[in-house]
Amino acid sequence: MTVTNDNCEMPRAKGEPGGLHIGVIGGGQLGQMLGLAGVAMGHRFTFLDPAYEPPAASIGRHIRAEFDDAEALEQLAVECDLVTLEFENVPLASAEAVDERNCLMPGPRALAVAQDRLEEKQFFEGLGLGVAPWEQIDSVRDIVRGVKHLGGASILKTRRFGYDGKGQVRLADSAHAAHEGGPGNPGEAASAWEAIAGAPAVLEKMIDFEREVSIVAVRSRTGEIRFYPLATNTHRAGILWQTVIADDEPLQHEAEAAARLVLEKLEYVGVLAIEFFVRDGHLLINEMAPRVHNSGHWSLGGARTSQFENHIRAILGWPLGDTAPAGAAAMLNLVGRMPDPEAVLAVPGSSWHDYGKTPRPRRKLGHVTVTAPDHITLESRLDRLKTLIAPPDAA
Ligand code: ATP
Ligand code: MG
Repeated sequence: MTVTNDNCEMPRAKGEPGGLHIGVIGGGQLGQMLGLAGVAMGHRFTFLDPAYEPPAASIGRHIRAEFDDAEALEQLAVECDLVTLEFENVPLASAEAVDERNCLMPGPRALAVAQDRLEEKQFFEGLGLGVAPWEQIDSVRDIVRGVKHLGGASILKTRRFGYDGKGQVRLADSAHAAHEGGPGNPGEAASAWEAIAGAPAVLEKMIDFEREVSIVAVRSRTGEIRFYPLATNTHRAGILWQTVIADDEPLQHEAEAAARLVLEKLEYVGVLAIEFFVRDGHLLINEMAPRVHNSGHWSLGGARTSQFENHIRAILGWPLGDTAPAGAAAMLNLVGRMPDPEAVLAVPGSSWHDYGKTPRPRRKLGHVTVTAPDHITLESRLDRLKTLIAPPDAA
């Protein structure tokens, strides 16, 4: 696919001083951290977000409007030098409207693929990348058939609007269905279908993975590409709990090769994250996120250049920064309730990030990053932090 948007010429002649006005669709914590990185480089920001006081409103101007508000989108596109996003479920028509008036990076094509799990799987398969076995689901009958066909436990996911494990139902092994009332039984298939409100879905085979990893990659509008070290992620209750960066990761090369294919096929501009399952020592793609990603938050202080700074550099066509880790690094999410910042910061190497959100169960309120000179020290610092920070399933 070729990008033919004439608006995507460089917004300013090379060497000309002065910051740019960057528009961001979405004003959550990802927007806030993008803004913090960009302001430090001399840029200013406008965020479009329907919330009253979203986290990013503390960093720049806030246009309070729905993501399909044509007038607000037009204002953002006209007033800003370029536009990016921090939320992947921006309606496609809105993304296209902004891209017609300005230059949206990443563009509508990347969004279209990432917004629909079915399109996404077909896209990965088209690139020759492995995904978990899956079936398209449009009815209860499809679920019954799909569970039998996939064999073993499976997971039903709505094609659209899933995050933090929402829109998902786990189904037990159909082999036990007949005598245990499992999903081979139409009753359970029907209740799973009801639980996702009959939305178009995919059924995936449950992967008995060794671990979950993700790669955060960045491609500049000049075509330059860089990769962060592979992150190992631990989820609790469907929410990311911990990310750890390994110094000697055997799957780094395989993950980079996959990410490069995706970035180049989409002529992607900005930061992109891809989540994988590791099984039999190899990668199966779970999904991608066309934006800065929670599993890249460790890079704030843990890498020479954060994912946020590199995203801003990428959309401006500026040279990308070094993605190497500054040592051993990890991140813990603060979900549901906040711990005592002073106790957290008493752990050496840790830093505190508070998004300024009202606490609610399962809500990501902040994160803590921690660095150390080596992995043994990192593990002991993480152990200490875990006595202070409740995991998502306990918060
Ligand atoms: P997030 O917003 O946190 O990325 P999400 O709602 O987009 O989550 P997924 O990433 O698809 O959903 O799934 C959430 C978690 O559920 C995964 O990280 C993994 O732990 C588990 N999971 C999802 N699909 C599978 C599968 N096919 N096999 C095993 N575990 C799975
Ligand atoms: Mg995920």
